[in-house]
Amino acid sequence: MRDLKSMDLNEMTAFMKDLGEPAFRGKQVYQWLHRGAASFEEMSNLSKPLREKLSESCFITVPQVERKLVSRQDGTIKYLWRLRDGNCVETVLMRYHHGNTVCISSQVGCRMGCTFCASTIGGKVRDLTPSEMLDQVLFTQLDSREEISNIVLMGIGEPLDNFDTVLRFLELVNSPDGMNIGMRHISLSTCGLTEKIDKLAQHQLQLTLSVSLHAPDDETRSKIMPVNRSVGVEKLFDSCRRYFETTGRRISYEYAMIDGVNDSDWQADLLVKQLKGTPGHVNLIPLNEVAESPFHPSRRIRQFQERLEKQGVTATVRRKLGGDIDASCGQLRRKHMEDEKP
Ligand code: SAH
Repeated sequence: MRDLKSMDLNEMTAFMKDLGEPAFRGKQVYQWLHRGAASFEEMSNLSKPLREKLSESCFITVPQVERKLVSRQDGTIKYLWRLRDGNCVETVLMRYHHGNTVCISSQVGCRMGCTFCASTIGGKVRDLTPSEMLDQVLFTQLDSREEISNIVLMGIGEPLDNFDTVLRFLELVNSPDGMNIGMRHISLSTCGLTEKIDKLAQHQLQLTLSVSLHAPDDETRSKIMPVNRSVGVEKLFDSCRRYFETTGRRISYEYAMIDGVNDSDWQADLLVKQLKGTPGHVNLIPLNEVAESPFHPSRRIRQFQERLEKQGVTATVRRKLGGDIDASCGQLRRKHMEDEKP
């Protein structure tokens, strides 16, 4: 059985031709799928024999709402979707002044092992498919009846560890015959897989690359992010510089402020030094406490921010949304897994 929604328009058109159909059928089916059609019966401009042929050889992914939490504080919505094979992933809809932003997952679980993150605790179960990534945007929009204008790949999983799928997803969600969301409205966040950052640069996409830095020195970064042990901060910044030179796009650095771990003055000063020469923006994130982790939020966010700003590095503090619904990623899926244990 083929996963129809993971095909791009060219593949879909070729597929229809193989079935003996005219080329324009490809576009028709593509448009149905990207509007959220859940079955072939709905596709009223296709003949009955074609609909039957399609349902014999293909499937349409339709995630089910397993849990839906709505924040009373700010209207943030968190979805736990159940996928075809029973696995669950999270998506968060956030309302900002500049439009609705959806935060989507790229894998079921994660194998990067960051010690402060809830998503990685059970390891990686599997990669998502392009259709499963698209569905998170599509069905969040359909269920919430809110138009989505921005996407961040900051949910469960490491997007660059599922590279080809993520590229295909970007093509699908950006497509004029689909949701048509502009690349400049999309951010991709990575823990810093340098080879993949170099590979991504070659595609010259206009999206925003966010690098989860969290510490400017190898000792600290390797402690909290195992991915750093093989690469190191210096090589990571080399790769970021190349990315900027190739794409002309500024990188945004994410920095979750952890009490007594990465929030001292010397770390702010070192960060300033590293950012010299490449324009970049620092996003300071108040740490979300994860039950299984020993870390606590820093109380020095403002001081750290001021120290960066005084030395010419722009730094913003991320507003916390959905605090009452465990909106930070990975936590709802974990809780759900605990609840389902016999
Ligand atoms: N794997 C990718 C994207 C998913 S995580 C990455 O590492 O960037 C999205 C962001 O949330 C990352 O910056 C991640 O480091 C951060 N994050 C994870 N756990 C967190 C926590 N408990 N508090 C604050 N930020 C956290």
